[in-house]
Order: sequence, then C-alpha cells, then structure tokens
Amino acid sequence: MKTIHFHQHGGPEVLEYHELPEPSLGTGEVLVQLKAAALNRSDLWVRDGWPGLKLEMPHIPGADGAGVIGAIGPGVEGLAEGTRVVIDSNLSCGRCEFCLAGQDNLCRYWHLLGETVRGTYAEAVVVPARNVLALPEGFDEHAAAAAALVFLTAWHSLITRGRLRPGETVLIVGASGGVNTAAIQVAKLAGARVLVVGSAPDKLQLAEALGADGVFDRSRQENWSKAAFEATGRRGVDVVVDNVGAATFAMSMRAARKGGRLLTVGNTAGPKFEIDNRYVFGKHLSILGSTMGTLRDFSTVMGLVFEGKLRPVLDRTYPLSQARSAQEYLASGQQMGKVTLAIG
Ligand code: ZN
Repeated sequence: MKTIHFHQHGGPEVLEYHELPEPSLGTGEVLVQLKAAALNRSDLWVRDGWPGLKLEMPHIPGADGAGVIGAIGPGVEGLAEGTRVVIDSNLSCGRCEFCLAGQDNLCRYWHLLGETVRGTYAEAVVVPARNVLALPEGFDEHAAAAAALVFLTAWHSLITRGRLRPGETVLIVGASGGVNTAAIQVAKLAGARVLVVGSAPDKLQLAEALGADGVFDRSRQENWSKAAFEATGRRGVDVVVDNVGAATFAMSMRAARKGGRLLTVGNTAGPKFEIDNRYVFGKHLSILGSTMGTLRDFSTVMGLVFEGKLRPVLDRTYPLSQARSAQEYLASGQQMGKVTLAIG
C-alpha cells in the first residue's frame, strides 16, 4: 500500500512517499481503506521526535482518518465490508480496570494512532472494531476525519472533565487550532457564554462566526485577563480553556473566578512554566487536565457532528503524496481550520 512514512526524526524532508506492506488483521480488528486523513499538530511533534519517544521505524504519522471497511477480522460482529467509517484514534485494551469502568482513555495500555503506532497517512490502517463508527449516508469523509480528534478532545475536556453547565462563561485562550475552534462550538452547544482571546484578526473573525460572544485581540489588548474580568462584571470567568501554556497560564489563572476551573489538553507555546500557587489555593481553582477522550465521548460527539450541530472547519486538502507540503502549511500557522489528505 502507498504510505507516507519516515525512517528517522527530523523536519518535513524526512517524510517519504513509498509502498509498505499492508498491516495484518487480528481478532476483533477491522482494516479500513482510507479515503481521508486529517493533520494534527501532534503529527509534527512526532515527526520531530522528543527524548524517550521510541517508535517502530519506519513510522506512519496520522491520528485521524475515514474510509471504507475493506476486511473484517475474526470475532467482529455488526460491521460489514464496504461500510464507510470514521476512526477513533484512541486505542485501548478493553480489559484493564479503567477500560472496564468505561474510562478507556485512562487505559494502562493506551496508544494513539500515528503517535505510538502506525497511523493514517496510508491507503489502509488496522484498528480494533470498537474504534470505528459508521458514517451516515452522504457524510463527507474529509469532514469526518477533520472532526474526530479535535471534537473528541474538546468534548471530553469541557463536558466530561469540565462539567460545563448552561449559563456559565468560558474563556478560550487561543483562537486558532482545531481543538479551540471545536471548543467554541461545544461550549455554545452546552449553553455557555463564550469569550475568545487570540492574536490574529482573521482567526478572531472565525471564532465569532463559530458563535463566540466576545473576542479579545491580545496584540491590541495586552492585559486580556483584565478585559475578561471586566466582561464578567468583575466576577471572573467560570471556565478557562488554556491549551497554550507557558505564554498564557498566569493570565488564565487571573481571569478565572473564585472556584473556577482551568481546562488544559495541551501547550502549544511550551510545556514548562511556573505557577503562582497563591492563585490556585487563594482562588480555589481546579486545574483539570485531559487528553483525547473515551469511546463513549467519541460516539456522543460524532453523533452531534453527523447531525450538523457541530461543524468541522476545513481549510484545504492535499493528495497523500504531498503530505510534506501539507505539514509545512500546518507548521506555518496560516490555516483556518483543518488540513486533510486525499487518499486513493
Ligand atoms: Zn485498558
């Protein structure tokens, strides 16, 4: 099968477009012939590599994908060859204490497609049958692939972990990035008032188009935590979504109300930073971390995507063979929504 893969970590130049053997199919698994893959920023980090990351080389990137079931392994029921599906990239064992409790995102043997095992920049991928969800007739594979990881992540963080309630105010730090555009929509759907802080006017416009009730341009309004404080009648926001990290976390803590929650699923501006602990105890703050979500979250949030209540934002599509250009475009930060690969 045709794949994009790399034999060593590095920049976009390490990506190669070559054939690799099709993966073998085991008990409880399905082979998906991919039509679309969506890029995530983590694809770039995995390609760059980090100390301690040990991958089986060559490695195929890609967490998100949608396509057609091409083959079904032993012991799989309820799925048929030819069914169009979207993939949940969170691979769990199905047997550990966390999986049995429905917290499969805490699985002791958790893997992420494209990060710790071979992913979706390929003509085919094998995943457990419980990791695919049938697409409704006519639902576009690129939209499905573009929605999967970011909406799962936003849903689990805001709804499952953050227990967001109607009428609460959410401040989303960072207007760009797929998870944040998903978070704006999830928070609006949950009945929250949504404020967004960002630095690019076109991305703040997109945030407003997606339902944001107020936006702060941090290139003009440096003290955006104060602006958010003012916008809530000097009360502070109930929930802050901060996936930026080093550059913003201190301001995020200041923007939160007493007893507020800070949700984080990542740190695009760097992982290590100081926390002024007086804010944490003095304001009774809860810092809630999570990554990805559960199988249940996935079926719930994708159901809302299929109904059109949540809409993936698509920027542009490249052929699989041009994944290098696609990753360079993603790295440039110019994209307004998801970048996808067309396969086959
Ligand atoms: Zn498990």
